[in-house]
Amino acid sequence: MEGDFHHLFNAIKVTLKPYFLGYCWIFPKGKHKANVGIGVLNPGECRLQGLNLREELQKFIRKENLNTPGYRILKKAGGAVPFKPCPSPVKDNIIVTGDAAGLASPLHGGGIDTACISGRIAVEVIDQGSPEQYSNKLSEVLAPKFALENNLLEVWKTHDWENLNFLASLVGHKDCLKPESLNNYSNQTIHQIKLLNNYFVNCPM
Ligand SMILES: Cc1cc2nc3c(=O)[nH]c(=O)nc-3n(C[C@H](O)[C@H](O)[C@H](O)COP(=O)(O)OP(=O)(O)OC[C@H]3O[C@@H](n4cnc5c(N)ncnc54)[C@H](O)[C@@H]3O)c2cc1C
Repeated sequence: MEGDFHHLFNAIKVTLKPYFLGYCWIFPKGKHKANVGIGVLNPGECRLQGLNLREELQKFIRKENLNTPGYRILKKAGGAVPFKPCPSPVKDNIIVTGDAAGLASPLHGGGIDTACISGRIAVEVIDQGSPEQYSNKLSEVLAPKFALENNLLEVWKTHDWENLNFLASLVGHKDCLKPESLNNYSNQTIHQIKLLNNYFVNCPM
């Protein structure tokens, strides 16, 4: 979209909704242009529930006052996020990395970090003359991250907002994993606190 995005310069805006698994965003591309969109992690379920993503995006645009004079849509586009890792990312003399290898995050759909990581690993194995090692090295580094993100996705799917906020409020400070901080909670809650803390504080990358 074109318009005045001064207020978001050097920032982004992301809005989660309680009734679908995903988010709306405004990513400024300067002071006068932004990518405004919506993404969901379970489009099939959304369709079954009768959720119309175009309407949801329109609601977001209205809420952010981007339907007012001075703003206009320059281009509409959409697509699937490639978050299912490609089973054989090396073939003959071709190595696929990043989105092409299906390495976007299953949790939030971003893939900049994994594009850089897979690119670096590709260069390393080529440099060492062993491109056949690429697949193993890639899963060594990324499998723990994806497993953690899939677990977090389950936490997101199975909690309402109040509970998610509550869990989020418990993590991140230095004493949050000490036994005295955890002794009031159930084993399941402790497991989820550890998952969240691991992601936000000790994230593998
Ligand atoms: C609106 C939006 C917001 C996003 N926000 C985030 C975010 O906040 N965080 C995050 O981690 N990720 C985010 N992503 C995802 C992220 O952009 C991608 O996961 C990442 O860029 C993938 O990097 P890549 O190098 O694999 O592919 P790309 O960045 O897509 O690079 C592929 C390049 O190949 C070029 N190309 C394609 N075909 C050919 C061809 N035939 N010949 C030569 N060149 C070709 C393309 O022009 C492109 O430059 C976002 C994506 C979108 C669309």
